[in-house]
Amino acid sequence: MRIFYSPRCQEYWLPGHPEAPGRTLRCYELLKSRYPFAEAKGCSEEDVLQVHSPKHVQRVRERQFYDPDTPALQDVYRYALLAAGAAIQAMEETRQGGAGFSLMRPPGHHSSGQPKGFCYFNNIGVAAARAVRRGERVAILDIDGHHGDGTEALFLRNDHVLYVSLHQYPAYPGTGARSIDNCLNYPLAPGIGDLAYLTELENSLRQIQTFKPDLLAISAGFDTYQKDPLLHLDLSLEAYPEIGSQIRSLNLPTFAVLEGGYSPDLPRCVDSFLQGWQGTRMPE
Ligand SMILES: [Zn+2]
Repeated sequence: MRIFYSPRCQEYWLPGHPEAPGRTLRCYELLKSRYPFAEAKGCSEEDVLQVHSPKHVQRVRERQFYDPDTPALQDVYRYALLAAGAAIQAMEETRQGGAGFSLMRPPGHHSSGQPKGFCYFNNIGVAAARAVRRGERVAILDIDGHHGDGTEALFLRNDHVLYVSLHQYPAYPGTGARSIDNCLNYPLAPGIGDLAYLTELENSLRQIQTFKPDLLAISAGFDTYQKDPLLHLDLSLEAYPEIGSQIRSLNLPTFAVLEGGYSPDLPRCVDSFLQGWQGTRMPE
């Protein structure tokens, strides 16, 4: 597996905001000796225009938008292109027979019509859209603790895509209470914990198997963790290698893109997930 990353993704921050530069920096520090890294490269505006409207892209470029969670910071357009580009790189790495993981910020899965929920461009959507244009069937599994309303909106009723999301409900953004067409939602009660979560995951993976995708894309968020300040799904650290190995057992070409996860333990959550996914589970 190769990790796509650039330290430049740590250059922006609104002080006090939970989506902070230390998230990716601390993950990098933990993972750098364990996996090969490759430099993330920004994608073109044309790439993001495959899923976002020209108006949306222009508003991000010119910082002409307002969302209290998603500040219009200096150069955020460049950082958003960098994160979307790394998602494409992770996808292409997987298509070439490897496995790619994008360790970048900002996250993306809430973005479709406008920047919101810490997300500017929909990174996984941009990468999946490229595979779909090549005629591939893509399943997107969203294990971030929030519903990926942006990703759902981008691919709703697209025959080439299956979107599957497990998320706390009720919670931000308030969507994902039920499945619609090709978007399968698994709303989970606060406090669900490892056992019930892993059962729901197993059910959702059966739907992915039935879809028979050419490619599996993971929106890998870690705000499902018990110490996460934003959600209350109460997963322990031990859940993450299990989640990873359930995904591994599908035996599909798979890439993953970092979404949320705001606790100080994010690096350990990511590391545990990667060990399960890559089948390199290490004793504690
Ligand atoms: Zn989230």
